Amino acid sequence: MNAQLQSALSGEFKLVINGRLVEGASTFDVINPATEQVLVRCPRADPAQLNEAVAAAKAAFPSWSVRPIEERRQLLLKLADTLTAESESIARLLTCEQGKPVAYAAGEIAGSVEMIRTFAKMDLPIKVLKEADGARIVQQRTPLGVIGAITPWNFPVILLMIKLAPALLAGNTVVAKPAPTTPLTTLRIGELCARIFPAGVVNVITDQNDLGDALTSHPDVAKVAFTGSTATGKKVMASVAGTLKRLTLELGGNDAAIVLDDVDPKEVAPKIFNGAMFNTGQVCLAIKRVYAHDSIYDALCTELAKLADAARLGDGLEPGTQFGPLQNKAQFEKVKGFIEDARAHGKIIAGGTIEKDRGYFVRPTIVRDIPDDSRLVREEQFGPVLPVLRYRDIGDAIARANASEYGLGATIWSSNQARAFEVALKIDSGTVWINKHLDLPPDVPFGGAKNSGLGREMGQEGLEEFTQAKVINMPG
Ligand code: NAD
Repeated sequence: MNAQLQSALSGEFKLVINGRLVEGASTFDVINPATEQVLVRCPRADPAQLNEAVAAAKAAFPSWSVRPIEERRQLLLKLADTLTAESESIARLLTCEQGKPVAYAAGEIAGSVEMIRTFAKMDLPIKVLKEADGARIVQQRTPLGVIGAITPWNFPVILLMIKLAPALLAGNTVVAKPAPTTPLTTLRIGELCARIFPAGVVNVITDQNDLGDALTSHPDVAKVAFTGSTATGKKVMASVAGTLKRLTLELGGNDAAIVLDDVDPKEVAPKIFNGAMFNTGQVCLAIKRVYAHDSIYDALCTELAKLADAARLGDGLEPGTQFGPLQNKAQFEKVKGFIEDARAHGKIIAGGTIEKDRGYFVRPTIVRDIPDDSRLVREEQFGPVLPVLRYRDIGDAIARANASEYGLGATIWSSNQARAFEVALKIDSGTVWINKHLDLPPDVPFGGAKNSGLGREMGQEGLEEFTQAKVINMPG
């Protein structure tokens, strides 16, 4: 094992329950996706440990929720400082378990710190709704209780912080459950939290995709904040129904990029390529299909293919790596299936190959002349395989972009911002970017339309999602 890997994995990994680091009831292997080697044996919680974690969070709630928000804010800022101090080692750990190049892993940690600091600046003041006609009506936002925070494997750290920071600021307590293939950074962060917050305020359990339902249906969990696939999101929604929990769902996407006829293909291609391939395409809001105007279609395909051919793949710990592997074997097999579909129905003009003997590496792949009803266009590929489709009429492009069960994000590319804005108004998604992508300021709400989700994360709305609005109505 090389020195970098060794230092990233140093120390033990334990569950965090009631402020204590505890062994799991059993263990499971965590695999390095760049080498397919076992990184470590990770603790695995059983249902009894899940119940202990929820009970600890429930017991911690009464005193945590009545602490002045200023004190909760200070502790969050301490977490931000601690994460900053530990950022190098956590970034390396993230690379080992997730696969992304270490520079991007460091970016995820820096983004997580910014996320915490942004929420730590927010407030939940009592709001006057009405002061007239002899009445004074105000609204107070109160915490909910225990939050079940469930995260996926593509951005395990920042997607945890999007939930943890607002939940804690608002006065809730948390039981976090990471994805089984990327549990290590969450366990490490849980350990840091155990040093900062009172016992039971932050708990971390891990599973092998078998404790989700027990957490989401638990009678002592008040809200579930879930990020993951649409298929699992539907199961979560069914599971919380029995207890009528509050629920935020951040789910899958199949984001369209519409490229108008007035762009310079050479200039937009790198931005579109990055928007599609960042994190090896494993981004919920990645560009997952491109609709390019007939007049620039060939030139854009050529430029995208050049970028794909030049991509540098490798172990994320190696300097100069631009793209790491896919995160896990199941996703690797799924993406290979999309490539086979593309080969059968379209024309692969770059990539389409498996890069190495070991590790889940797929070269960035560009596919042209593929029909709208192919799997690669209809489904979420969640990998580095990008279909480029031709349109002649902008109305047709908008209709095809909207003809999806998903509605997470979209991008419009044009040299005329006013024209692009007119198109953006007609797109059915939670966010539309114009001439940029992957820009997610933590103080701006984010979420999906249609099957891409329910509710919002980030911004003041993202904070208020962790509260109950209460109206107090009195004579004025
Ligand atoms: P997934 O749905 O397989 O798993 C997500 C989490 O849910 C994991 O922690 C998993 O253990 C847990 N889980 C599994 N079964 C469960 C159940 N029955 N009840 C409760 N929890 C359960 O998703 P994934 O494959 O890890 O992540 C990829 C997906 O996440 C993609 O579809 C991607 O678009 C989506 N995603 C969405 C956003 C967003 O903000 N909208 C962000 C990142 C990823």
